[in-house]
Amino acid sequence: MATTTAIPKARISGGGFLLESRRTDEVFTPEDFTEQHQLIGQTTEEFAINEILPNSEKIEHKDFSLSRELLKKAGELGLSGVEIPEAYGGLEMDKVTAAVIADHIAKYAGFATTWGAHSGIGLLPIVYFGTEEQKKKYLPRLAAGEIVGAYALSESTSGSDAMNCRTRAQLSSDGRHYILNGEKMWITNAGFADLFTVFAKIDDKFSAFLVERTFPGFSIGAEEHKMGIRGSSTCPIILNDCKVPVENLLGDIGRGHIIAFNILNIGRFKLGAMCVGGGRVSLENAIGYAKQRKAFGKVIADFGLVREKIANMATLLYVGESLVYRTVGMMDVALGEVDKSGADAIKETRKAIEEYAVECSIVKVWGSEMVDYIVDETLQIYAGYGFVEEYPAERAYRDARINRIFEGTNEINRLIITGFLLKRAMSGQLALMPAIKKLMDEVLSGPSVGEDLEGPLADERKLVGQAKKLGLFAAGAATQKYMQAIQDQQEIMGAIADMTIESYAMESAVLRAQKIAETKGEAAAALPIAMTRVYLSQAIEKVESTAKKVVAAVADGDMLRTQLAILRRLAKYEPFNTIALRQHIAQKVIERGKYTLA
Ligand SMILES: Cc1cc2nc3c(=O)[nH]c(=O)nc-3n(C[C@H](O)[C@H](O)[C@H](O)COP(=O)(O)OP(=O)(O)OC[C@H]3O[C@@H](n4cnc5c(N)ncnc54)[C@H](O)[C@@H]3O)c2cc1C
Repeated sequence: MATTTAIPKARISGGGFLLESRRTDEVFTPEDFTEQHQLIGQTTEEFAINEILPNSEKIEHKDFSLSRELLKKAGELGLSGVEIPEAYGGLEMDKVTAAVIADHIAKYAGFATTWGAHSGIGLLPIVYFGTEEQKKKYLPRLAAGEIVGAYALSESTSGSDAMNCRTRAQLSSDGRHYILNGEKMWITNAGFADLFTVFAKIDDKFSAFLVERTFPGFSIGAEEHKMGIRGSSTCPIILNDCKVPVENLLGDIGRGHIIAFNILNIGRFKLGAMCVGGGRVSLENAIGYAKQRKAFGKVIADFGLVREKIANMATLLYVGESLVYRTVGMMDVALGEVDKSGADAIKETRKAIEEYAVECSIVKVWGSEMVDYIVDETLQIYAGYGFVEEYPAERAYRDARINRIFEGTNEINRLIITGFLLKRAMSGQLALMPAIKKLMDEVLSGPSVGEDLEGPLADERKLVGQAKKLGLFAAGAATQKYMQAIQDQQEIMGAIADMTIESYAMESAVLRAQKIAETKGEAAAALPIAMTRVYLSQAIEKVESTAKKVVAAVADGDMLRTQLAILRRLAKYEPFNTIALRQHIAQKVIERGKYTLA
């Protein structure tokens, strides 16, 4: 039962957003959900409310038999197998569907982590890299939640630097088994999972293996006492002459890094979707509390500074949704072009997903930092009550923090964003360098740097163009100075990633508001437009200050003064009245009791 999104249809190149403006019919937004997307969203929502939340306290205290039962129920509802082909017991649905489920299941982070690890990094290595026999053997039971999956890459001395692992695999003398020795750390679901994708080196060749819990020589260490997501299991695994049948080698010897990095990349958009889902719950709690807590004879929801926080949180959720669904929409168009019956179907599928590595990392970084802001401000609204366990703000605050650490830390993802863009630029897949040169010529030759745009949200679209130019200009100045060696300038790589992230977020917000205005009218778009303006106002400031940081690091004297003058021109805009806009946003979401556009 494969679904296809109605729009958009045209394939867009990964990272291309930096160089080209998009039309609204080229971006997917939550307003474009099909009936099927809505239905699966509703099913997941009901599952979360009726099955997960009533069990959350027990799961929080590590009743993992309940987690297993819930994974089974999720499997029966088809929620764990959406990315598994029908031939192996899955539903083979689009990535929008996968994101919708991740978004709605995130009401309780403890179980969402369990489900995320199982249905993502736990089983996708087999979907994308397994042999026919491996798929037949494991995928139907994983889809049904009869067995639970886990992914064992990290070790005590190698997390980000995962290729530097110490676990070793050696072929047995009879050639029938690989003998694995070593220890993996921080493995989600390890306490009760049945099947692990374990990475180990055969000599110096980084490789992957499917290791069953029952294999001789395999054991699990003690549960970690974690700061958050306590309802998920995290343990080390110990491999002591662990006998793995040769047919359980996953992919090719020495190609384990392809599996490791592709699978993490695929997981990132779902992590972003979960951050949006978790943030929505937090805001709803914050609003509910603010409407009943009194101070100085008023409910605190009437105070401007509390309303400002609520408006900021709602704005971030709007932008988060726009980013996540735009990204998965692009992936679905590219995946729709893959000939599923062709000999290279899986390879082409992986390529189509990898195309959007930059966007997936953006969604992960932006989403995890967004939800941290939301849980922090929610706790601030609860104040003293936020600091104690009886109220939900405390747990949400602890639970959110992990998102900046796993699936590649945000530092590593920032390096991936700029690194990928540069790689695509060097290989000619992305015309970044000509665009930078054109911009340099344009800004050095005259005062006019902005386009004159017309139609809905013209000022906002212009601002997006300016943000992109600021980023390109700063990146141009830095690449001129360092050339290839820019890869070693991490602070600059990070700054370029930050400007890229903001440009994508700004554009996603504008295009969605514009699309709503075009399809439903300006009145219906009032709230998204207000949120877009609030977001743009802070984002353009951030992009400008980041660009300044970069040029100040690569130029000095007259050159620096000239470049700063250019940045000022590029960043010039007439400010929106963000106080009034936030008041409007807060009024609407407080009235509605939660984040919703309608
Ligand atoms: C609750 C939890 C669940 C997890 N689940 C899993 C799982 O299921 N499977 C699995 O394999 N792993 C899992 N992990 C491990 C997780 O992926 C790693 O913790 C993460 O990749 C970071 O590795 P590290 O902790 O070793 O930090 P390090 O790599 O030591 O990093 C320490 C700091 O240095 C920074 N840093 C490192 N390298 C660079 C660099 N080149 N440039 C700039 N900065 C750098 C990092 O960003 C970080 O801030 C889990 C971790 C936790 C806490």
